Amino acid sequence: MKTNPFRLPELGYQLTDLAPMMSKQTLSYHYGKHFQTYVDNLNRMVNNSHFEGLSIEDIVRKAPEGPLANNAGQVLNHQLFFEQFLPAKDAKIPSGELQFLIEQSFGSFDAMREKMNKEAKSFFGSGWTWLAMNEEGKMIVLSLPNGDNPLRHGWKPILTIDLWEHAYYLDYQNRRTEYLENFWLLINWRVISKRIV
Ligand code: MN
Repeated sequence: MKTNPFRLPELGYQLTDLAPMMSKQTLSYHYGKHFQTYVDNLNRMVNNSHFEGLSIEDIVRKAPEGPLANNAGQVLNHQLFFEQFLPAKDAKIPSGELQFLIEQSFGSFDAMREKMNKEAKSFFGSGWTWLAMNEEGKMIVLSLPNGDNPLRHGWKPILTIDLWEHAYYLDYQNRRTEYLENFWLLINWRVISKRIV
């Protein structure tokens, strides 16, 4: 039976809301086409397999290296990515427990942001830079290639930057640094706070 269990998540904003940092054209392709393709591929692989009925997180944790892990990883990565934004006029900075954890691990929010930007600027090829939580509840910054996700390494994904060129090329061409600077203007810290629980 084809259950096609996965769908694109609903966005809490319109495709025009993140411009000019992330244009409607970028979102139309990135959310509407790239993300949709990963979802369609994943559904095709999960239908009639013993992964049917598992959550996306469990598939990401358990899939052996290969096409299923790649597509499941990309579905979860894009879900985390697109759910963490809101219009720039509403974006603020971390507060409460999240702020405490960031300051404890990096000294300050600015230091964390700089560490992620530096990591993302120097990452070669397609992949993602992550803020994650390790086994001891400490925040860490790391990059992973292609569709890999911190869950596959035993860490909790908290915030993510898509470094595939499809994420920024239409708006910034080769100017990854400018994409990274603007990325921080779009983060919905209330969504990020829910991920540390
Ligand atoms: Mn992407």
